Amino acid sequence: MSSVASLQELNERIIACDRCTRLRTYCAEVAHVRRRAYADCEYWGRPVPSFGDENARVLALGLAPGAHGSNRTGRPFTGDGSGDFLFPVLHEAGFASQAKAHSRDDGMKLTDLWISAVVRCAPPANKPTPEEQRNCAPWLDLEISLLADLRVVVCLGRIAFDGLLAHAYRVNRGKSVLQPRSQFAFAHGAEYTLPSGLTVIASYHPSLQNTNTGKLTRAMFLDIFWRARALAGLR
Ligand code: SF4
Repeated sequence: MSSVASLQELNERIIACDRCTRLRTYCAEVAHVRRRAYADCEYWGRPVPSFGDENARVLALGLAPGAHGSNRTGRPFTGDGSGDFLFPVLHEAGFASQAKAHSRDDGMKLTDLWISAVVRCAPPANKPTPEEQRNCAPWLDLEISLLADLRVVVCLGRIAFDGLLAHAYRVNRGKSVLQPRSQFAFAHGAEYTLPSGLTVIASYHPSLQNTNTGKLTRAMFLDIFWRARALAGLR
């Protein structure tokens, strides 16, 4: 994949990507049929670009767009239950200008934070195939190379954690500087430092399944983002 000059150009290329036939077909179908509650909405229906502060020191890395969340609104974690849990925490931790995210035109501004995902198209049942994850991986490689001030990556869920580590192994291929994969265990709050100096923090994903059951509480999630601030050298 050829290089890109800016995060804006990267987002434009992501929006035009059609590498995964199954996902592109699914997103277009969802956008056409729509959920009854959103019957009056014009769905985005395309790959979802990242957004945030181009000088971010912290990256929040999710799994993939929700079919009726980001696939509808066109912005990560916007317009669904995961975002309703995430943005109040980001607001309290000083990363987000407002606690509510309902559309890509709602005025939300992020400071010191960039939000992305390992897969940019909504997958059926929230389950991208390994091939689809590999297809989308070059976008993450380019994105991280363009985030010049990046110090910390918060991985939201195990698939994001695995995707970030896969990225680390790709960029360090042939250098023998990374520990064996078995040394990187996923656990909420686990931290690892990569050879580049980047710190990785693992977190449970703010899915309704985790937040409604109390597996991930607001206090636990807030601690993750306060810790990210501290590790990034932010006040
Ligand atoms: S998931 Fe990624 S690689 Fe696949 S079509 Fe969407 S943007 Fe392209």
